Amino acid sequence: MDRLVYGTAADATVRLIAAVTTDTVEEAIRRHETGPTASAALGRMLTGAALLGASLKEFDRLTVRIESDGPVGGITVEANNAGDVRGYVRNPAAELPPTADGKFDVRGLVGQGMFYVMRESGFDIGLHHEPYVGSVPITSGEIAEDFAYYLAKSEQIPAAVLLGVLLKKTEPFVVASGGVMIQIMPGANDHIVTMIEDTVRRAPHLTEVIKEGATPEDLLKLVLGIIDFEVLAERPVAFRCTCSYDRAFAMISALGRDEVASMLAEDNGAMMTCGFCNETYRLDDGALETMLSEL
Ligand SMILES: [Zn+2]
Repeated sequence: MDRLVYGTAADATVRLIAAVTTDTVEEAIRRHETGPTASAALGRMLTGAALLGASLKEFDRLTVRIESDGPVGGITVEANNAGDVRGYVRNPAAELPPTADGKFDVRGLVGQGMFYVMRESGFDIGLHHEPYVGSVPITSGEIAEDFAYYLAKSEQIPAAVLLGVLLKKTEPFVVASGGVMIQIMPGANDHIVTMIEDTVRRAPHLTEVIKEGATPEDLLKLVLGIIDFEVLAERPVAFRCTCSYDRAFAMISALGRDEVASMLAEDNGAMMTCGFCNETYRLDDGALETMLSEL
């Protein structure tokens, strides 16, 4: 089971979030049948959204979206405040050859475009406040740097973000996946910030230690070196969608009487596939007849 921890260091002037997301990303790429590079991109986005969501206080749904001109076309992920994430890429089969140093060319697959963050709240009390939306141009395309750039530019929070997905060619595809987000709050000591920058720069790849069984706490130790920190909260992280047969039924019903009648006349029932998780719901003629009788 994947886990995320939230903590602080240096008298709460440094906020820390770390997560291991190996199973979460496995579920995502198994559902969407993404190519290797798109899998790495989607995995980084899902992990980044989980980390960002854990640092926010008041929201019900966090959406992080890339709209870009590279082969992947776009990536959309959502996180809620319980640690559930879901998401998809526009072109799951998009692929590029590896870079000269043998890495996934996520930057090339993403291309140029915009990075959006939308926070919605008030669902629980029946109020839907105007969502908060922030956006920045894509400066890196490697995704971790784009989260950091977004935090610095749009939320005025200097941050270091590390996201990693290590894949292999056979199932389970994800060997290791996880991330760390370090947010520097006002009043942070310059010396501490420099120390963190140094240890982050020298830290081994997250996936190398996750592969060996590292926990989110271990990841924080890795990037903080000798700096003490306190873990304040933890939560499970999982790929979980909100779709269901009943929701699919309601959505088809909302198309109206004529549309449902013509689906029934064509005698093939109706199918609805959820974009977020790729689950297909099949409504047979009996279900459509029931629906029609209620419209
Ligand atoms: Zn779904």
